Amino acid sequence: MTAQPRPDRVPTGRFAPSPSGPLHAGSLLAALASFIDAKAQGGRWLLRFDDIDSDRSRADAVADICHCLAAHGLHHDGDVLFQSRRTPYYDAALDTLSRQNRLYGCACTRAALRERAERAGHSRYDRQCASRQFELDNHAVRVRVDDRLVQWWEGDAWSQERVRDTAGDFVLKRRDGVYAYQLAIVVDDSEDQVTTVTRGADLRDNTGRQVYLQHLLALSTPRYLHVPLVLGEDGRKLSKSNGAVAVDASRPLANLLAAWSRLNQSEPPNRIETVNGFLDWAGQNWQPALASDRHC
Ligand code: GLU
Repeated sequence: MTAQPRPDRVPTGRFAPSPSGPLHAGSLLAALASFIDAKAQGGRWLLRFDDIDSDRSRADAVADICHCLAAHGLHHDGDVLFQSRRTPYYDAALDTLSRQNRLYGCACTRAALRERAERAGHSRYDRQCASRQFELDNHAVRVRVDDRLVQWWEGDAWSQERVRDTAGDFVLKRRDGVYAYQLAIVVDDSEDQVTTVTRGADLRDNTGRQVYLQHLLALSTPRYLHVPLVLGEDGRKLSKSNGAVAVDASRPLANLLAAWSRLNQSEPPNRIETVNGFLDWAGQNWQPALASDRHC
């Protein structure tokens, strides 16, 4: 069984927004949950921008997000981190996997993959390129997935997945040379010694692939907590890409209280009137298992 994070490590959480727009209520919820979870354990909270995809990253969004977090009393420890500065680490991880002979080049186009997935009724890769021996350069790079079962601590229980049956061989680097989220996040969380990954429930489906990569790269597996999504009036998840309304940084306490209640936590006493007062109280009253979206 996968070990829980090592007790000798400083508890470390992180918030890893993609800087494609300002913070919305859903991202504030993930930021608050990861901050409180780290602080409740006396640990560190890191801010790391997932800006690897430069086409979707905006410098003004970085400044906006930093300002908004600070206005809500969510102060990060250490320097702000950027994926875009970490390419050598991703290169090294890919190289390790290549030396293990686990990678292959894939020439399937998105349209072809979509069409085959529709026909098959699932999006698990059909390994069409697995034995074609395409070079890794100028192709998407996929990792060959074996049949191991991976496990991780999720909120308040173990989860498990056989990635070969869900995603199948997945992409680590795109044909245009951009590293895929799965590889980058695993390398980042290891570099930053993250012990708890707290994020929106829409990302839960990625966890098995990430734990699988941790196995191959001999990295430890953090604990995971997936928190509820905030839905818009149309019932869809708020996201920067569908133009969700930015959090109003001039009413931080009200925003934090709304996020706290969506995290299924106990109601704060009426005497709480300041952001710092709330954050201190929240750190002492945090119940992570209740914040898991499985309970909300
Ligand atoms: N950058 C991702 C997002 O903004 C979060 C990645 C993660 O927490 O694993 O949705």
